[in-house]
Amino acid sequence: MEHDYDVLVVGSGFGGSVAVLRATEKGYRVGVLEAGRSFSPEDFPPTNWRLRRFLFMPRLGLRGIQRITLLRDVLVLSGAGVGGGSLVYAGVLYEALDPGLREELAPYYEIVREMLGAAEVPFETPAEDVLRRVAERMGAAETFRRTTVAVDFDTCVRCGGCMVGCRYGAKNTLDRNYLRLAEERGAQIHAEREAFLLRRAGGGWEVVARRPGRPGGREVFRADQVVVAAGVLGTLKLLFRSGLGGPHLGERVRTNSESLVGSTAPRSNVDYSVGVAIGSSFFPNADTHIEPVRYPRGSNLMALLGFPLRGYARRLRAFTPRRWSERTVILLAMQTLDNELRVRWTGRRLTTSERTAPAFVPEAREAVRHAAEIMGGIAGAAVNEVLLRTPMTAHILGGACIGAVIDEHHRVFGQPGLHVLDGSTVSANLGVNPSLTIAALAERALAHWPSCGEPDSRPPLGSRVPTPLPRA
Ligand SMILES: Cc1cc2nc3c(=O)[nH]c(=O)nc-3n(C[C@H](O)[C@H](O)[C@H](O)COP(=O)(O)OP(=O)(O)OC[C@H]3O[C@@H](n4cnc5c(N)ncnc54)[C@H](O)[C@@H]3O)c2cc1C
Ligand code: SF4
Repeated sequence: MEHDYDVLVVGSGFGGSVAVLRATEKGYRVGVLEAGRSFSPEDFPPTNWRLRRFLFMPRLGLRGIQRITLLRDVLVLSGAGVGGGSLVYAGVLYEALDPGLREELAPYYEIVREMLGAAEVPFETPAEDVLRRVAERMGAAETFRRTTVAVDFDTCVRCGGCMVGCRYGAKNTLDRNYLRLAEERGAQIHAEREAFLLRRAGGGWEVVARRPGRPGGREVFRADQVVVAAGVLGTLKLLFRSGLGGPHLGERVRTNSESLVGSTAPRSNVDYSVGVAIGSSFFPNADTHIEPVRYPRGSNLMALLGFPLRGYARRLRAFTPRRWSERTVILLAMQTLDNELRVRWTGRRLTTSERTAPAFVPEAREAVRHAAEIMGGIAGAAVNEVLLRTPMTAHILGGACIGAVIDEHHRVFGQPGLHVLDGSTVSANLGVNPSLTIAALAERALAHWPSCGEPDSRPPLGSRVPTPLPRA
C-alpha cells in the first residue's frame, strides 16, 4: 500500500504531536507514523506486572507503553504508543532553568501549558513529607515546591499510576489534546508503523515502514517534507540507518545528568504509593534537582531494578517486590552540569562511547540516605548504577543538536524538506523534566513554518544565523 502526504511526521510524542497539529492548521495534508499502538484508558494495565500491556518489546509480543533500552554506557527508559512518552510519563511540566532559553521559549511554554491543562498539585502525601524533611536536612527547605502537572484534578483519584498509564482519563496525554485536534482537522495517524528507512524520492521523501514485531508487510509513504520526532534513540537509529544527519549525528547525547535512587521501608504502615507519580521537588544546590517518584499499589515490577547501597547490602530482602511500591520512595535527581556521551551506529544497532555523564550523583546518594533514616528504610539505587557503574535515565536528550545537525528552525543541514523535532535537538542537560521544553521548541519551530502554498520567510536552509537557542 502507498500513501502520499505534504508532511509526514515520524513519532507522536511531544515534538511530533505539536508538529502534527500545527502543520495541519497551516493547511498541509499530514500523516503520522507511530511504532506503538493506540490506547484508551481501559487499555492500560491495572499494574505493571501485566508485561504485555506495560512493556514495549514487540519481538516478544509485548505492546505496552514503556521501552527499556540497554546501551553500552546507559540504560534508557522511554515511551511508546500514540501520544509517545506522554502515555508513560509522570506529567511534570518544568521550564528550563537556563534564563536565555526560558526567555526565548516564554510564549510557547504558555501555549503548551494551556494545551496540556497544566495545574499545580493541590495536595501533599507521605512521599512529599519525606522529601520536605530531606530538603530540610540538606539545608534547602526553602526550595521545596509542589510540581505543576498535566492532570485534571477534578477527575484524578490520586492512585499514583501515572507511569503505568492513567486508567481514569485524568492525565492529559497528547492523544487527548494535540493529536485529537489534529485528527479532527484531517491528520491521519498510522499506529503500529515503524519508520525503517528514509530516502530521497524526486523532490521529496520516501519512508519505508514496517509493523513492529510482525514479519513482512512493508509500506511506503511519500511526502514533500518529513519531520523526524521518534525520540532520541528512535530518531538517531532512523537517521543513522538512512545515512542522513551528517558527521555530528550522535554527538552530545545527554542523560540529563540523572540518577535514580530509592528508599524502601522493610515494612511500613504508611502508604507511599498514593498521590500523583511526582508531586514535589527541591533543589539541594543550584545544579541539582530532586523529585520523589512513586508507582501505584500493586505495581512492583521496578523493584527488580533496585539494589541496596553500601552499608545496606545485608538487607537485600527488603527489595523483594511484595508491596514494594507502598513501601518505597524513589528519588529522581537531575543536574544541569555539562556532561555527555556519544551514540554511534554499528551498522545494525546503536552503541555508545566517550561517556562523561556520571554513573551516580553524590547529592542523590546523600538524599537517599536521609530518606532511609526518615523512613526507617534501606537506601538503594538502580542496579546498573550500583553494579555496572553506568547511569540510567528517563530523560535522554541530544544527538541531533541545533548548530551541529539542524539549524535553528530544526531543518537538517543539507537535506531540504527534512526536519528533527524532539528531545534529540536539546543540546544541554536541562536539569528538569524536559517535555515542556521539547514541546515548546516544536511550537516555536512550527510557528515559523509558512502556511501551505505561502512563501517561506525563514532564512535559507543552512544559513548560520545567530540563535537565542543553545547550540552544540
Ligand atoms: C517513566 C517515565 C516518566 C517520565 N516522566 C516525565 C515527566 O513527568 N515530565 C517530563 O517532562 N518528562 C518525563 N519523561 C520523559 C519524557 O517522556 C520524554 O522526555 C519525552 O516523551 C520525549 O519527547 P520526544 O518528543 O523526544 O519523544 P517521545 O515522546 O519519546 O516520542 C517518540 C515516539 O516515537 C515513536 N517511535 C520511535 N521510533 C519510531 C519509528 N522508527 N517509527 C515510528 N515511530 C517511532 C515512539 O514509539 C514514541 O511514541 C518520563 C519518561 C519516562 C520513561
Ligand atoms: S494519579 Fe495519575 S494515574 Fe491516578 S488518576 Fe491521577 S493522573 Fe490518573
